[in-house]
Amino acid sequence: MKKSAYGGLLRLLAGMAAAVLLTVTLGGCGGADGEKKHTREIFAMDTLMELTAYGDGADDALSDAVNKIKELEKTLSATLEGSDVYKINSAAGTAVAVSDETLGQIRTALSVSENSARLNSGRPALDITVYPLVNAWGFVNKDYRVPGDDEIVALLKKVDYTRVECGNGTVKIPQGSEIDLGAVAKGYTSQTLMSVLEDDGISSAIVSLGGNVQALGTKPDGSKWNVAIQDPLDADGVIGSVSISDEAVVTSGGYQRYFESGGVTYHHIFDPSTGSPARSGLLSTSVVCDDGTTADALSTALFVLGLDKALSYWRTVGGFEAIFVTEDGRIIVTDGIKDSFSPAEGTEYEVIVVSSRTK
Ligand code: AMP
Ligand code: MG
Repeated sequence: MKKSAYGGLLRLLAGMAAAVLLTVTLGGCGGADGEKKHTREIFAMDTLMELTAYGDGADDALSDAVNKIKELEKTLSATLEGSDVYKINSAAGTAVAVSDETLGQIRTALSVSENSARLNSGRPALDITVYPLVNAWGFVNKDYRVPGDDEIVALLKKVDYTRVECGNGTVKIPQGSEIDLGAVAKGYTSQTLMSVLEDDGISSAIVSLGGNVQALGTKPDGSKWNVAIQDPLDADGVIGSVSISDEAVVTSGGYQRYFESGGVTYHHIFDPSTGSPARSGLLSTSVVCDDGTTADALSTALFVLGLDKALSYWRTVGGFEAIFVTEDGRIIVTDGIKDSFSPAEGTEYEVIVVSSRTK
């Protein structure tokens, strides 16, 4: 491996802000047609969010977008009393009425759980009921710890996405279980912001919610947005950029949130079959897809699956493209975006394009 994975905790912590910066090359402050650029920053969902929109009415539209983010945070937070997720968790064992928005995300997550389980001997890579483990490892309250094996085994008994029941406007989970929409909520939020901005008459905008970037239309001059993808081993570096319009680019990686204990790094993306942070040989997974929620669900799931099964998912289920950074120094690009991905100049990674047909 060319560099040590997770090397330099302080350097990376210092770079956490950079990790969530708008990793987008906007190219100037206005479009060729002189449309004015408006920006807004908000810290929500534990992430710095950067919103950019162009043209008349963009400032008001961004205010609507910020309000929508605040509203969604109140609905989707697992820790905020009164949120849909909080209600589902505290009423475990009985059906709870939730918004269509919450229900839609849960359904998207469950379908990715099912698809991933099919490709992984029945073991899902995405499972929203993994929350008790996320909590036990300290990722909810940031009081990080490594649970003992017995504790992990006991908590794993509560993890089973097949027991989440979606009804007509309701969700029910088994007593003792808890869910967390952390793997999809930001993707859903970026997707929703596209509608909010569009309804306000905006045709050119881009939002960056941590590792989730989503674009509405093109830049005002008609060219595509260039979204930089962070180097998981270098908080100040990028591995390249992908050009998009009307699409989401969502990245999941162990470098985004982690702690160290006894010289070992533990990150926030769990393998629901082991109850521990996934060790799949990937440093990051970026998914490019029309739908932000799906992109977010997939980026987490494919990270857990590891490269080979992730590529099987891409080949058999499809509907997205992806860029994987592997621990052994490779950037794997699916062939549907080979022309829109530009590796960083002089990158030390080996760039490999994979075809949808051959392995
Ligand atoms: P993401 O950053 O989108 O990859 O999502 C990671 C977040 O989703 C974590 O912070 C947890 O809250 C939650 N999570 C971690 N592992 C999983 C998993 N395997 N399935 C579902 N949610 C997960
Ligand atoms: Mg995700």
